[in-house]
Amino acid sequence: MEELKQLKKAYALSIEKNMAEATASIAYSKFGSYTSGSVGSDTNFLSISSEQASLVLSVLNNDYTVNSIVTLADTDKAEVSPAIIKYIIDHTTRTHIPIGYKIINKKGKTLFETDNVAKLAPFYNPLPITLAKIKNSKVEKNTANIKIKNPLELKVFAIKGIERNFPLYNSASGYGTAVFTKSGKVHFAGQYSKLGKSLGLHSEINAIISAISQNDWDIESIGVVSTKYPDTPCDMCGICRQLIGEISIKLNISPKLYCFAKDTDEYAEHTIDEYLPSAWTSKKWL
Ligand SMILES: [Zn+2]
Repeated sequence: MEELKQLKKAYALSIEKNMAEATASIAYSKFGSYTSGSVGSDTNFLSISSEQASLVLSVLNNDYTVNSIVTLADTDKAEVSPAIIKYIIDHTTRTHIPIGYKIINKKGKTLFETDNVAKLAPFYNPLPITLAKIKNSKVEKNTANIKIKNPLELKVFAIKGIERNFPLYNSASGYGTAVFTKSGKVHFAGQYSKLGKSLGLHSEINAIISAISQNDWDIESIGVVSTKYPDTPCDMCGICRQLIGEISIKLNISPKLYCFAKDTDEYAEHTIDEYLPSAWTSKKWL
């Protein structure tokens, strides 16, 4: 029952226009568990499932041992998404640990269960990837309780975020983001790349997922840094700007955005209104 309670709490933290579409997931590992609701996007194109989000939280904590995921959906008939199955298999491709998957409803009734999602798609067999960072990795939180007084202090954590990325190969370039919230907490994150390259999640989004999943959504600032931009400020991509814009409206926040040069003190400062002019919004949020 403790599990159901935890899932319901995460479900309530989902960001969805239509709460009937919300889900919540717990990813269980050898060392702990990671819980998140889903993060919908008005574009639909950018929506993030709770399974995706919970796996992201695990790697942000340097934990590569997830072995099962339990999802709560407000339904009596489970819809098993092949896209989510692929996402979970892609995770295993890098951790080499099979992942079980269960869908339950709000009454706690099991609607679907498998001990290994890879069995559901025997035709999908990506070659295993061995990441050096997984070997000898130590589980470590991706948060710190610290009052950030100036942007360059935020950058220190954005750089830490790069180390928490989940790439497809060892020499991949890294992005890192730090989010500072009103509660005095910093969440740092790297990018979660995905096989087939599309629909991976950028570090900005992952740091925000970390904050929202802990009900620490009152975001004051978001800072990003990249190994690709050592001496000039990097930029956030259009996808991240769109999602940050949407989330800012939904949560009624107006975070300061900082784009840092990795090796110099140079940075650019933006507001989302200025950084994403003429933003598209759905009527619902106007
Ligand atoms: Zn981006």
